Amino acid sequence: MPTMPQLKTSADLRVHNQTRLLRAVHGADEPLTRAGAARLLGIGRNTAAALVGELEAAGLLHEVPAETTGRGRPTTLLLAHPGGPVAFAADIREDSWTLARIELGGRLTELETGEHDRTPAVFGEIHRATRRHATDRLAALGIAISGPIRDGRRLHISHLGWDEVDLGEHIGAGWPPTVVDNDARLAGLAEARRGALRGIGTALHFHIDFDIGGTLLLGGDAQRGAHHIAGEFGHMPLTGSGLRCMCGVQGCWSLDVGTNALVRRFGKEPGYGAGRELGREILARAEDGDAEAGRAVDDNATALGRGLGALANALDPEAITLSGLGVELIRLRRGLIEQACADGLMGFRRAEPPRILAGTVGEIGPLRGAAEIAYDAILNPEWLRLRL
Ligand SMILES: [Zn+2]
Repeated sequence: MPTMPQLKTSADLRVHNQTRLLRAVHGADEPLTRAGAARLLGIGRNTAAALVGELEAAGLLHEVPAETTGRGRPTTLLLAHPGGPVAFAADIREDSWTLARIELGGRLTELETGEHDRTPAVFGEIHRATRRHATDRLAALGIAISGPIRDGRRLHISHLGWDEVDLGEHIGAGWPPTVVDNDARLAGLAEARRGALRGIGTALHFHIDFDIGGTLLLGGDAQRGAHHIAGEFGHMPLTGSGLRCMCGVQGCWSLDVGTNALVRRFGKEPGYGAGRELGREILARAEDGDAEAGRAVDDNATALGRGLGALANALDPEAITLSGLGVELIRLRRGLIEQACADGLMGFRRAEPPRILAGTVGEIGPLRGAAEIAYDAILNPEWLRLRL
């Protein structure tokens, strides 16, 4: 989210308020009226009318009459300008990718999907697909990818054998302005901006797949840390496992929660992205009443809850959302997760435990989050000054 700029002149203030207005239109869960936007931003109706007029003239917003209800004064709806900027978002998974177009306001249209060969050559495919679909309205591209990205540039994906992949060698000339971030963090950002965590000040989100990725969300933004690699909650020894993790740490939480943990319970060596089918099968067997599969899911849910309790002691979230396998664990074992979380909370906290919720954005969370960081890159005063 943009930090408060130094506002030196009335022109600065105008651009600052126009940025806030565009961000409000983009972030609203249903189209804003001009009167509603004025209330939200704490500005007068006349000021709002002037700001909207300038944004319409610049081809950034489109104003249409709103249906009048009751006796209120007639107002207008603020919509994306049909010729205005759009963002693309790409989600790169371990063997496939998706590219989508997202309008101001959040309308998402999937453009193309493809397979890839599990090497960084996938960035070339994303580039070619972007060129196939781009028009001159394309203003920014956001990319979601699994694995930590040190300093926003050097990518590690252990299960694909990618070590220190330099994004600068793969993304550059001929690309639109491009921002890349971790998929679990982006899934959390999507929940904070457009899902179950909307309006919540302090929250945690965890995406559970082979292991656990997550993010701390403060005021609708995902925390990145000093080197852009914060949020590796799965690599904390929260559940006391004696095993050594692929990351080099002993006893990581991810060893006890997620598909890798389920697979290991059935004697299969996890790692390198294998075992998703078996993981799904174990969940299905547990649901059908198979005792051994049921115990594996119980252990997974209990370890999840214990870790959530420990993290709640440290970070005091109002709510915690889960995506990926976490949604299934909530569906099958909510009681166990909540009990284990409560057991892990310090006594004085137990009367008000954090709410544990399934995310509502769903599987497109990383794609939605990638669109949000693309819009963050353009909905700021520096970009707007060039467009007005
Ligand atoms: Zn680890």
